[in-house]
Amino acid sequence: MIRSPFLVDVSDLLGRDVPARPVVIDVVVDWALEMSKILADPPLVADLSFSPLPGGILVRGEVCYAVEHTCRRCLTDFIDDGCSPIAGLFEVDPGEAAYPIEGTTIDLEPFLRDETLLGLPLLPVCEESCEGVVTTTGIDLNTDPPGDSDATGSPFAVLRDLLPPED
Ligand SMILES: [Zn+2]
Repeated sequence: MIRSPFLVDVSDLLGRDVPARPVVIDVVVDWALEMSKILADPPLVADLSFSPLPGGILVRGEVCYAVEHTCRRCLTDFIDDGCSPIAGLFEVDPGEAAYPIEGTTIDLEPFLRDETLLGLPLLPVCEESCEGVVTTTGIDLNTDPPGDSDATGSPFAVLRDLLPPED
């Protein structure tokens, strides 16, 4: 039987007055939004702490992953990575803000997916100064700034040609 890497048994914690237990999972995911995709390599790592609470478990820690975004301005793909803090409540009898505990097992997948995807920018931009692409001509304003590419049209262009080359 293949056991999901997201399933964690919490029978040692549930309803007990015991210290928090660290849980680290390292897993390949294929989660994506329209402009962003979590990369399979390196795998996503969640470094968590499970603390028993009355009726449930508090899970907190951080999730680290690499993500490929498509810049919404210039449509260039770029990769970003890092870690973000996460926290979630798991309950045997879950209220609206909690995830369920099935028997003595927590399924981390919905929690990690929600937290990871919510942490992504809805409209990723490769850098704040990205000027984007003029779609009608395909000119990339980052590499072809208008009116500044050469001295073409400048009266000094002729003079420049007459100067001896520098060595
Ligand atoms: Zn861009």
